[in-house]
Amino acid sequence: MKEKQQNILIIGAGLCGSLLALRLGQRGYNVTVYEMRPDLRKVDISAGRSINLAFSDRGNKAMKLVGIEDKVKALCIPMHGRMIHDKKGNTYLSNYSGREYEHINSISRGELNGLLLTEAEKHKNVSIYFNKKCKSVDFEKTTALFQDYKTKDEFVEDADIIIATDGAGSAMRKSYYLGKKFLFSFSQEYLTHGYKELSILPKENGDYKTYKNALHIWPRGSFMLIALPNLDGSFTVTLFLSYDEGEYNFNNLTTEEKVLEFFQKEFPDALALMPNLIDDFFENPTSPLGTVKCSPWHYKGNTLLMGDAAHAIVPFYGQGMNASFEDVVEFDKVLDKNLESWEATFDAYEKTRKKDTDAIADLAIDNFHEMKDHVANPMFQEKRKLEMALEKAFPDQYSSKYSLVTFNEDIGYREAMLKGRAQDKAILNLLTDGIITLDDDLKTTLKKVKQETEAILEDDRIAGLK
Ligand SMILES: Cc1cc2nc3c(=O)[nH]c(=O)nc-3n(C[C@H](O)[C@H](O)[C@H](O)COP(=O)(O)OP(=O)(O)OC[C@H]3O[C@@H](n4cnc5c(N)ncnc54)[C@H](O)[C@@H]3O)c2cc1C
Repeated sequence: MKEKQQNILIIGAGLCGSLLALRLGQRGYNVTVYEMRPDLRKVDISAGRSINLAFSDRGNKAMKLVGIEDKVKALCIPMHGRMIHDKKGNTYLSNYSGREYEHINSISRGELNGLLLTEAEKHKNVSIYFNKKCKSVDFEKTTALFQDYKTKDEFVEDADIIIATDGAGSAMRKSYYLGKKFLFSFSQEYLTHGYKELSILPKENGDYKTYKNALHIWPRGSFMLIALPNLDGSFTVTLFLSYDEGEYNFNNLTTEEKVLEFFQKEFPDALALMPNLIDDFFENPTSPLGTVKCSPWHYKGNTLLMGDAAHAIVPFYGQGMNASFEDVVEFDKVLDKNLESWEATFDAYEKTRKKDTDAIADLAIDNFHEMKDHVANPMFQEKRKLEMALEKAFPDQYSSKYSLVTFNEDIGYREAMLKGRAQDKAILNLLTDGIITLDDDLKTTLKKVKQETEAILEDDRIAGLK
């Protein structure tokens, strides 16, 4: 099956779609991509939509696969840890890993997407068309209906297979759902919180106004502010806040005075760096955050959902893009098996992949609570200190949950979640019960943590959680 002359239609040239086009182009398929928006290399369309992202090892594995790791590295700003800001303006750096070479990166969505498009277009067998919006997909006939943004003309495209990488609001997923032709399960869960993007502009001489190589967090219990650096000396700042709960919320922050009062009270050190706050606040949209799960991702051997279209997650683990890139790596592995049909290929891919994307969706919700609240908790800080010490002393024997998810790209998210959660529970139990302390011999502590983790994993196995 799958002669290389086969025509593959990709809907959506975002991060996942452009990487997929590049990889399938490298594999020799005839690839056509239709993207709803204009070409982002020519038009600035990023305002208010996560301008920069945390890029880490799972995403980088995909860049290695397509041979552009060095080009991507040039776009990256390393972030070694979380710089936590308390209400008094004190800061505290909590590293992401005890292994010095492990860090995450801040990367521009537009630059990375643009690079992937350019690399994909280098292949004669890849064509990308912009301003063409998919309205629906006939998954039984393997055709898609598009509308040209400029002329408003509608046209139908057919292909041997269609892969939809059209993001969290996927048109093809909607066709699956509305078509009612097969048992399609779908859930979308919104958080009570939304987000708004703000900015810290560079100093007049172009320097960064605060420490460059960290992900800054202002955790405030039920809401938070974060900031990631950009190459031009600015930071993209994101406020995560409830729509309608608490003293301050998006629904009641309607006047300049109230917004300033909120920042003065909660984020005074950030406010001092943000003279442009009011303009940003009222110009930029407030957007919702949600988790999308669905199954099956494919209809027979005709169509397949990938990236956010199949599994949108909340952004708190910095893994949505990384997971979407990992989708392409995992799909590529299945293609290597050269199975007898596209149906068998899609089936095998979904079987191995879905458990992992379900896991990162749940981990991302966990991290929402960790970032806005737990990072400021003394017991949590003690646990992180201990984990950093263990990773440093025993780099080959210990990895925290964060490291398992972020820096261990050769294990799946589900395995990282099960082991990571058990370890978290073990350390917190041992610290709370005074069985270990930060001053103990690390070798003895590691042994106790491993024993307790194993006991918890065994309980989980007995309870059928594993
Ligand atoms: C606030 C925020 C912060 C985030 N931070 C991080 C982070 O730090 N790290 C991380 O790894 N992930 C992060 N993410 C998640 C990340 O943005 C997504 O997981 C990633 O963009 C998914 O890529 P995708 O290509 O599947 O979807 P998208 O990037 O959404 O791309 C979909 C593409 O399809 C196009 N399209 C949509 N509908 C149609 C249609 N009907 N017809 C044709 N084209 C269409 C869109 O224009 C777009 O180009 C964040 C998300 C948000 C909201």
